[in-house]
Amino acid sequence: MKVYSAQLSRPHSECFLKVDPAHHGPTHLTILPTYRCTAACAQCCFESNPHVQGRIPIERILGYIDQAARDFPTLKLVVFSGGECFLLRDDLDAAIARAAERGLATRCVTNGYWATSKRAAAERIAPLYEAGLSELNFSTGDDHQKFVPFDRIVFGATTAAEFGLRALIVVEGRKEARFTMDDVLAHADLAEFLRASPARANLLLLNNIWIPFQDEAPISQPDEAYRSRDRIERFQGCDNVLENMVITPHERLASCCGLTFEHIPEMKIGDARARSLRELYDSQLEDFIKIWIRVEGPEKIFLFATQKDPGLPFPDGSTHPCQTCAALFLNPRVRRVLGEHYLEKVPEVMFRYQMLRTLERRSDPSFAPATPPGPGTSGPEAGEQRDQGRIGFGA
Ligand code: SF4
Ligand code: SF4
Repeated sequence: MKVYSAQLSRPHSECFLKVDPAHHGPTHLTILPTYRCTAACAQCCFESNPHVQGRIPIERILGYIDQAARDFPTLKLVVFSGGECFLLRDDLDAAIARAAERGLATRCVTNGYWATSKRAAAERIAPLYEAGLSELNFSTGDDHQKFVPFDRIVFGATTAAEFGLRALIVVEGRKEARFTMDDVLAHADLAEFLRASPARANLLLLNNIWIPFQDEAPISQPDEAYRSRDRIERFQGCDNVLENMVITPHERLASCCGLTFEHIPEMKIGDARARSLRELYDSQLEDFIKIWIRVEGPEKIFLFATQKDPGLPFPDGSTHPCQTCAALFLNPRVRRVLGEHYLEKVPEVMFRYQMLRTLERRSDPSFAPATPPGPGTSGPEAGEQRDQGRIGFGA
């Protein structure tokens, strides 16, 4: 086992993790079929825009879904994001249908550009509903609205909810925002839908943390959002790493879909065209820092580094765990300190990881051993019970 995958060190057999596919595996598969997007948001974490070229061919998307459903008994949900996954057009419907046929719940994340009217929204959502789509997430806010008016989000999200899909509107959160959750609630059609529609329980609203990817971006957060050292006890393990496996548009398998994962070389595990998803996924369990991030989260690991090297400043200006995580991988001084001292943490972290896995699987009835799938346990509904985290970025 090594602390970073790029670091050469001999495995320590006493902490080698024996991989049992029934217990060790992701609950989510995220497919980023393209980084192309109809929008070009200034702070897009993938620098998506209409000029980006390339996508994963549909045959390979279907192959990845088949492979994941076959080789990962832990898998519950397939997320399609990007870029803008609706640029796949009919291929998106085919991919949703394949995942649903395999008994997996499905989610699409979109900027809603296609919902130009209530009618257009219904025409686009109908085949997705027929294919078995479970959930549709819409992203909006100041940056997004330079390209997609909020009316389209309302058309899309209310129509999805009326189809019986779970719909979510996610709003860019920052102190300087001109468009806020108050504006969402003040939209006349949406307010009426939330007041009187029988489908209103299917529609949820969420403020996320919008973080800067370009220098000088005027983005700040309310004081309580800062993940400073004096709040360390509040921060938890990352529920994305190892729980989500991500296929990038370049067909690399990645360890998470965090906002900064494209900036962290170690989060790219390998070429999904050359090696099986199972082989790639399992190989990262030799990478101690990912297990450590899953168990304790990046802030507590950073704190450990500062305790070993008191001259190392804690990143008090961070408002999102993925920012702190990027510093763990990209700051050479942190890497050196962790490389020198990580063995002190291995027994405790590995024990807690095994406990986490055991308790998670025991508390989830869908992981009950040797129960053949039957009516009510194999469809998207079974997967949705497990899906409590917000995983999947882009759009
Ligand atoms: S905290 Fe790190 S491991 Fe977790 S999602 Fe963010 S970048 Fe990925
Ligand atoms: S943030 Fe979303 S909508 Fe905006 S450019 Fe990126 S992928 Fe497209």
